[in-house]
Amino acid sequence: MKPRCAACKKRITKGEPDLVLCRMDPDNPMRASVRLVYHVRCQGTALERAAATPALWHMTHRYIEAEAN
Ligand SMILES: [Zn+2]
Repeated sequence: MKPRCAACKKRITKGEPDLVLCRMDPDNPMRASVRLVYHVRCQGTALERAAATPALWHMTHRYIEAEAN
């Protein structure tokens, strides 16, 4: 499955840096209940989404591995 940016809906190409925004489950803080992927350039939208409940969101930068495609 090709990841798509949750902000602009465009595909995130492999080798392009991306952001993973995880919303932790309030009932089980060790589990992510929502997982969204964004372009690094769409970080503003990601931060806006997390702003309402910042304690629940975890943001990580990563590169998509070539073999994941
Ligand atoms: Zn984007």
